[in-house]
Amino acid sequence: MERAVARIDLGALRANCERLRAELGGVRLCAVVKANAYGHGAVECARAAVEGGAGALAVATAAEMAELVEAGVAGGAGTSGGTGAGTPGEAPELITLGALTAEEVDVALGAGSAVAVWTEGFRRLVAARARALGVTARIHVKYDTGMGRLGTLDLGEAVTVARSTAADRDLELAGVWTHFATADRPDDEGYFDRQLDRFGGLVEWTRAEFPAVTVHAANSAAVFRSPRSHFDMARCGVALYGLDPFQGDPAARGLAPVLSLRSYVAAVKRFPAGQSAGYGRRWKAPVDTWVGVVPLGYGDGVRRALSNDCEVLVAGRRHPLVGTISMDYLTIDLGPETEVEPGAEAVLIGRQGEEEIRAEEIAARLETINYEVTTALLPRVPRRAA
Ligand SMILES: *Cc1c(COP(=O)(O)O)cnc(C)c1O
Repeated sequence: MERAVARIDLGALRANCERLRAELGGVRLCAVVKANAYGHGAVECARAAVEGGAGALAVATAAEMAELVEAGVAGGAGTSGGTGAGTPGEAPELITLGALTAEEVDVALGAGSAVAVWTEGFRRLVAARARALGVTARIHVKYDTGMGRLGTLDLGEAVTVARSTAADRDLELAGVWTHFATADRPDDEGYFDRQLDRFGGLVEWTRAEFPAVTVHAANSAAVFRSPRSHFDMARCGVALYGLDPFQGDPAARGLAPVLSLRSYVAAVKRFPAGQSAGYGRRWKAPVDTWVGVVPLGYGDGVRRALSNDCEVLVAGRRHPLVGTISMDYLTIDLGPETEVEPGAEAVLIGRQGEEEIRAEEIAARLETINYEVTTALLPRVPRRAA
């Protein structure tokens, strides 16, 4: 029995990698482990993804990359990371996807990571830092084909930056890439296809001029949506964790949830009709009933917006979460008759007996996406191997 724990099934993560690799044919899988692997624990998940056949690891920030390298997952100062060419046993390529300050460039390059570049000014800065550090910096040139975030919107600029990267002896042109805004929205009025068409201009040029360069675009949703988006590598995050990129049932796509959030019933109390639970008295027992108190709250990342609007598994059954979620506790209605005793396991996300509550269900209640549900779990919840 433990107060609260996120159980991480690394076997499921490896199986999800295999599932994605089957979908991708021979195309390389890049495991995206940013934001502490969407709340699942970056170091352990990165290792499991490499075991599952990922040929690259990607994060958003330089500090995230340094954490992986310090933990010995891959890379390290003085290396340039693997090329991820897919040779069995070869070190994965490391890619820091995000915008970087000058200080962060040093950290990323020191970790042996490739970095994203889309302007000549930033390319020159990376080259100068690479020279100062005595490394060759691997560059992935980012083209904004419609996400409207990082990258250049101008094909000419993408080509210019790619060409000057290839010509710079402190740099290596490792990739050209883009990112989709609507891969998870089949009803996007053709936007996904228009992004693909626009990217095609850069892909054609790259294939002709630099055929060894890795071309990549797909996130998890795109992998399932269209093989046209696969190119040489796919950057998958959410599907690795067995979360459905389309907010549906992950099992229908052969994905198995990796995380479950477990706690226990710390107290069981008889509530007379009218007795209220929690701050603000937002729930009152309609009839005499039994209430269970579970030591999980918004201080663990269980969103307060789920007050009076969630279910919790105890003894293999769903029980309504009642009252206001506080920082450290939530309460559930066990019903007028119950056999549940203090110490019984309580599951907020995951399976218990025949029942399952998926992150997608909680996301729907919160009007958000499964990504945010697991990423929101706070450090107070230990992550442990399932
Ligand atoms: C987070 C991220 C991904 C992974 O997206 P999923 O939808 O989780 O597969 C891929 N590419 C970029 C640039 C990202 O920021």
